[in-house]
Amino acid sequence: MTAVPAAADVAVVGGGIIGLATAERLTARGASVIVVDEAGATGGATSASGGLVRAFEPESGHAAWAAEGCARYQARGWRGTWPSVRADGSLTLIDQNRLAEATAALETAHAAGHKADILTADEVNRRFPGLTVPGHLLGVLEPQAGWLPAADTARAILRDAGDRLSLRTARATGLLYSSSRVLGLHTSTGPVHADAVLLAAGVGSTALAASAGVHLPLSTRAIGYCLLRTEVPADLPTVVDRTTGAWLRRWDADGTVLAGVACARTGVPATVRAGVTAAEEHRVRTVVRHRCPRLAHARATGGVTAYDTLATDGPGTVTVWPRPRGLVTAVGWNGGGFKLAPAVGRHAAARILEVLNR
Ligand SMILES: Cc1cc2nc3c(=O)[nH]c(=O)nc-3n(C[C@H](O)[C@H](O)[C@H](O)COP(=O)(O)OP(=O)(O)OC[C@H]3O[C@@H](n4cnc5c(N)ncnc54)[C@H](O)[C@@H]3O)c2cc1C
Repeated sequence: MTAVPAAADVAVVGGGIIGLATAERLTARGASVIVVDEAGATGGATSASGGLVRAFEPESGHAAWAAEGCARYQARGWRGTWPSVRADGSLTLIDQNRLAEATAALETAHAAGHKADILTADEVNRRFPGLTVPGHLLGVLEPQAGWLPAADTARAILRDAGDRLSLRTARATGLLYSSSRVLGLHTSTGPVHADAVLLAAGVGSTALAASAGVHLPLSTRAIGYCLLRTEVPADLPTVVDRTTGAWLRRWDADGTVLAGVACARTGVPATVRAGVTAAEEHRVRTVVRHRCPRLAHARATGGVTAYDTLATDGPGTVTVWPRPRGLVTAVGWNGGGFKLAPAVGRHAAARILEVLNR
């Protein structure tokens, strides 16, 4: 067995989609990287992700990264090796009063080369007979967007990184640093030495940053979905309803729909488990049935109860910390990090290479 090295140019804590997308871009530009993940890789939100990708992102402040991420997924990554986008089409529903603010995001999507059309409620209902959309809503339809299997995509990114990336299954317990710069990490299996450290460990990043005196205000937010068995209309697109928080997509070719509803509960355990409570199933059904009536009585066959990391002071960001020099964080994606990951990874890698003066 090859021993995992104890030193690299960059140590990345977190082998979720954000840490891996960054690590892959670093290796593509010649850097050596050690990814430290207590679960091996994809242990957190990425393992549960619905994998919806689209270019139109009106609310999170990440319109450009969503458009870039969607294009990269459509190209199947940097080398054409990632799973292909299941291009069922992506329909985002917005209140027509929000059209002005949606226009900027739509222009960003168009500028990046994506097809995205605005449909009236009547047009949506005619085009997708399985959906029911009231008159005060508009739909933004992206025919070439859809979803990907998230964990498989993360594993494909890991493979793309090749042998400049080493994976260490260990818990990072603190930063190794001098008064002014990062020297690496303490981990449960010994130190890792590196000239730069990326924290992409979700909510686990807070304690690691604090070990070097950096305040990273993060929490968790509940996110999950139910699997509902029904006769899925052949043309069911992925649906994100900004007015109710409902989102859904086809799960498989077998008539199952994955359906969730945004939840405001924060401070939940950072765990992922199969299944949902009866109360959660009821909560999801009572909302999604307004847009997809056949889900009202569809048989529940499972689901996921999980979390994502929320930045409590704003949207998720990549931050280069002035002190200790060499510390970069990429956290706080609040239920939407999968679609952004290729762009976040490219951007974070570029910032880390600047820190390394490369
Ligand atoms: C149910 C669900 C559905 C979602 N659907 C979508 C969607 O349709 N589209 C979309 O864009 N986004 C979606 N998201 C959000 C998206 O999946 C997340 O934003 C994204 O996966 C976050 O990736 P990450 O790499 O930041 O974190 P994570 O995937 O949580 O990875 C963090 C990693 O850090 C490791 N770690 C933590 N602490 C330590 C430590 N101290 N030492 C070592 N390792 C550590 C963990 O083991 C984990 O592997 C969904 C999320 C969930 C939960």
